[in-house]
Formats: sequence, structure tokens, C-alpha cells
Amino acid sequence: MSSNHELFQRAQALMPGGVNSPVRAFKSVGGEPFFTARADGAYLWDVEGTRYIDYVGSWGPMIVGHNHPHVREAVERAVKNGLSFGTPCPAEVTMAETITRLIPSVDMVRMVNSGTEATMSAIRLARGATGRNKIVKFEGCYHGHGDSFLVKAGSGALTFGVPTSPGVPKANADLTLTLPYNDLDAAKALFAEHGTDIAGLIIEPVAGNMNCILPNDGYLQALRTLCTQYGALLIFDEVMTGFRVALGGAQAHYGVTPDLTTFGKIIGGGMPVGAYGGRRDLMEQIAPSGPIYQAGTLSGNPVAMAAGLAMLELIQAPGFYDQLASRTRLLTDGLQAVADGEGIAFSTNRVGGMFGLFFTADKVTSYTQATKADTAMFNRYFHGMLQRGVYLAPSAFEAGFLSSAHSDDDLALTLQASREVLRAMRTA
Ligand code: PMP
Repeated sequence: MSSNHELFQRAQALMPGGVNSPVRAFKSVGGEPFFTARADGAYLWDVEGTRYIDYVGSWGPMIVGHNHPHVREAVERAVKNGLSFGTPCPAEVTMAETITRLIPSVDMVRMVNSGTEATMSAIRLARGATGRNKIVKFEGCYHGHGDSFLVKAGSGALTFGVPTSPGVPKANADLTLTLPYNDLDAAKALFAEHGTDIAGLIIEPVAGNMNCILPNDGYLQALRTLCTQYGALLIFDEVMTGFRVALGGAQAHYGVTPDLTTFGKIIGGGMPVGAYGGRRDLMEQIAPSGPIYQAGTLSGNPVAMAAGLAMLELIQAPGFYDQLASRTRLLTDGLQAVADGEGIAFSTNRVGGMFGLFFTADKVTSYTQATKADTAMFNRYFHGMLQRGVYLAPSAFEAGFLSSAHSDDDLALTLQASREVLRAMRTA
């Protein structure tokens, strides 16, 4: 079988950066990515047979661990009936019923094929419904690679230092107003100036694309109030936080009701799925019931719906989120204690099954603080952990994810690896 290195050589000759999505290339942490041959539970195995405890979880969807039999068997059953119909299928109806039951702010929903599609469609709806053109986003938040969002964006755009991408027309970027996350005064000032031109404000209710940053107490509610006051729509991008920080997403965790919500990741169970939904009066403006156009040949695909529904069944088990949150706390508290023991400036954030690790002594609550944390330290830490069989996201600007498959032993191994790596870094 080919080695990781050999595959990467072949890949680089044929694909930009050797990958199909930028952060996978390890460019910011240095070195070469491994190529995964298979995944099961909390682990990935690369083509050379090395096992990694995985804290990326396919960037979020694998909340019950990889290759869960319940999801896999649902997919196997669906595949037997055909891969795509191009007509409505029953699983789409069950999916819509499930989402609207679990997320009370969502009266109606439209399935799409990625988080990017979900956010692009949601802002088109916001613009179409309000008759306004400007949108507001937050510095360091990532909403997929749609033109309107690649302005001061997070994730790979931030990792690679191109938060505002070439190729986004200035006329388009000018319609995107940006704000610092967790700064309410800035939001109030922006709305005071532009409020009546703003179609919608889109936010990751917990920011997961500039590492992991939680909203300050009352911040999301204050944004809700501002949007209502100025007739702008509040859009929660729950592609990452949906079914991750709580069964009802961040909106349930923080008790704030958005007008529209976007989803991805977990609702697809690992298949390429996204969705957007919200108030009935808004969603009814989408074609064919209304004039705002949005479509998709493979949307509501029967195999993807089967995977997503199986995943949504699993996460409704009683106590699932309490256990996930308490294990995430065990991990972050453990990592903090290890770093404190080694005298390394370190802090963590966490909510539900999502966490962030920062090489700084400060509690990180802003984009500015996140970008000031020591990325060189992170890069060394990342590689040290990888060598010891622990796979963290290959960028200092990504959140980490835990699954219900991570065992006590996995957490213990992770803490042991962290102790060894930090000690080596301290004494180097
Ligand atoms: N919104 C958020 C909050 C995300 O984290 C992501 C992807 N990480 C997206 C949108 C885009 O989703 P996709 O990569 O499926 O297009």
C-alpha cells in the first residue's frame, strides 16, 4: 500500500495543495497530512496502520464516533433501494419532522448539501424577505465559502491569512459589514448607523472557527433585541453548534430564538448534508411556495437522509448531552491541570461537546485574544500530540470535538501525551 508521503506527493501534483479542503493540508502547522484508511469509534487509522485518537471527528459530524453501526446499517438499508431519486422521498419528511420537533424556532426547513449552501441560501432569504442588501457578520466567524462570507472570515481563511479572499467582488464585500465578536457596544453603534439597511445578522452562536469562543452572558439575547428593533433577521449559523452543544443547539443552550438557523455536519451523520429553516412566514417565501429561488438536484438525498436520521435517533438518548459535556469538561480540566503542572501558559474554553485550547494565560473571549495566543507553541504541541497518536485539528484557529465513543482510556492517554509533549517543549 502507498505511504502517507507517497500519496501526498501524488495528490499535490493534481489537487491544489494536495487536498480538497484547505486546512487538511497541514500547511499552517507544517509537515504533511496523513491519509486515513479507515475510522472506527474514537479512532482514525492512516494508510500506514498508525492509530490516532481523533478530536476532529470529520470536523464535527462524528458525535457518536466513527462508523457507528446504527448509522452504517441505516445507510446500507437505504443504499439497497437506490442512491438518488430526484423525486420526493419519505425520509425527507421524517427529517423535516425531526428537525422541527427538536428545534422549536424552526417551523419549516429546506435540506441542502453543505453548510455553505445553507448559509448562502439563508442570507438570500433574509435579503429577499426584507428587501435590504446589507448583512452583518463577525470577524473570525466562518460561514462557508460563499462570496458574502469571505470577509474577515475564520477557519482556513484565517489560518492561511486570507480572511478576505481575492475573487470576492468589492461590490459584494461592501455589502458585508463586520463586527468584533462579544462587543455589544460595537453592534449597537453599527445598527445605529446602518440598521435600516441590514437584512440580517449571521453569527456562530458559539464561535468555532477562530478556535472556540463562547458568547458573553446576555450577548446573544442583546443581538436578538437589536435585530428586532431594526427589523433585521437574526440568523444563527448552527452548522457546528447544532446538535453539538445541546440537543436543541446553541439556541436551546442560551435560550435565544433566531429567525433563521443553518445546519450541517451532525444532521448528515457524515454524509454531505446541510439545511436551513426558521419562521414559517419567511420559509414560505422560498420557491416553489414563494419567489426566492433555491434548489438542489441531490438535496434530500435518500442515503444522506438515512444517515442523518439514524444519527439524530442516537443523540436523543436520555443523558447523552450531559455525559458528552461532562467528558469534555474532564478533558479540558485535565489538559489545563497538566499545563499548569508544567508551568505553561494555557487556557481552555468548552461548551457541550466542543472545546478550544489556547497557548495563553488569558481566558479567551475575543477574536483579538484568539489571534494573540501563541500559534508557534500550538504548532509544536500539535505535532508532539500527533507523534503520540492524538489528532487535534491542524490549526490553532479550529475548535475541537469530542464524541460519545471517547473512553476513559482515550482521555487518560491524551492527558499522558499532553504531559510528555509540554514537558519536552518546556525543556527544549
Ligand atoms: N458554518 C460554520 C459555522 C462552519 O463551521 C462551517 C464549516 N466548518 C460552514 C458553515 C460551512 O460548512 P461546509 O464546510 O459544509 O460547507
